[in-house]
Amino acid sequence: MSALARTALSALHLSYDTDEEKMPPHVLLAHQKYACTPSDSDDPTSVLTPPSSGKNILLHSCCAPCSGAMIHEMSRLNLNVTVIFYNPNIHPYAEYLIRKEENLKFCLKLKINFIDLDTDKDYGQKLWFKLAKGMESDAERGNRCTMCFDMRMMRTAEYAKENGFEVIATTNATSRWKDTEQVDSTAQAAADKHGLEYWRGSWKSDRLTLLKYQISAGERFYKQEYCGCTYSLRDSNLWREKEGIGKIKIGGEEAGLGSRWFTDASVDAEEENQDVVDSFFADANAVADKVEEGGNRRDAWKVLKGDELKELYEERNKGENGGKGLNNW
Ligand code: SF4
Repeated sequence: MSALARTALSALHLSYDTDEEKMPPHVLLAHQKYACTPSDSDDPTSVLTPPSSGKNILLHSCCAPCSGAMIHEMSRLNLNVTVIFYNPNIHPYAEYLIRKEENLKFCLKLKINFIDLDTDKDYGQKLWFKLAKGMESDAERGNRCTMCFDMRMMRTAEYAKENGFEVIATTNATSRWKDTEQVDSTAQAAADKHGLEYWRGSWKSDRLTLLKYQISAGERFYKQEYCGCTYSLRDSNLWREKEGIGKIKIGGEEAGLGSRWFTDASVDAEEENQDVVDSFFADANAVADKVEEGGNRRDAWKVLKGDELKELYEERNKGENGGKGLNNW
C-alpha cells in the first residue's frame, strides 16, 4: 500500500480492500490520482455524510465534468454508484451526443455501470419541449428549469425504484450555475414519490469544486459552454454578444471562449468565476422581465449594463466564503 493510500485511509477510516492491485478502477481513482482528500482540519461543512438508507446510489448525471467529483467521493466512501443519463434538455443532438458519449467513456474507464435511457434519436426531446411550452422566455433558474429538473429526477427515481436502488443523487447539485434549492427540492419530491432517499450533500463546497476541476483537467473533458437547452444556448449567446465574447461552439477543436477541453484547474475555474456567473444571471433575469413586458429580446440584451443589475442576485447561492471560491457549470 502506498503512503498516499495509507494517509487517506487513516484520515477517513475507510473499510474497503486496501491492496491497490485488487482495487477496482473507480476506487483507485479515489485513492491515487487526485490529492483533494478531506482531513480533520477541513471545514466540517465540506465533509460528506453518507446516505442512511443504503449503499446503492443511482446518480443522475448531466455530463462527465459534473460527475467526476461525485463519483470520486462515492467511491471513496465505499458506496456502489451507477450513473444514469437521462437529459432530454440537451440540444442540439450533436451536443447531446458529445456529452453523453464522454460520460459513458468515463464510466467505462472506471468500470462503473452507465444506464442510457435513450430508446431513439428523440431521447425524450418532444416531451421536454411540450412541457417547456409557455416558458421559453424564462431566465435560467426560473420555472422552465424547475420543470426540467422535475422531469429528469422523476424518471431517475422511477428507474431507481424499479431496479432496487435505495438512494438517488444528481450532478446538477454540483453547479453554482444552478439554484441549490431548486435542484434539491425537485429531487427530493421525486425521491419522496417513490419512497427513496435523496442524498443532499455539500457538493458545491470549495473542496469538491476544486476536485471537480482537477478531475476534469486530468481527464481532459470537453468543456461545454451553456447549460443545455436551446433557450439557454440562445441566452448565453446573447449575453456573450453583449460582453464581446465569441459565440458558443458545438464540438470541434475550438471553443467560443477559452480552451475546448479542461486542461488547467485554476484557469478553467477562472473562466466561470463568481463574477461571471453573477453578471450572466443579472442580465438574463432583467432580459426575461423585459421580454415578458413585450420588449424585443435582442434589444433588451443590448441596452443592459451588467454591473448595475448585479444587486438583483445578492441573495443567490454563492457556495462557501460568500462566493469567493471556485465555480462550476
Ligand atoms: S437552462 Fe438548463 S436547467 Fe434550465 S431548462 Fe434549460 S437545460 Fe434545463
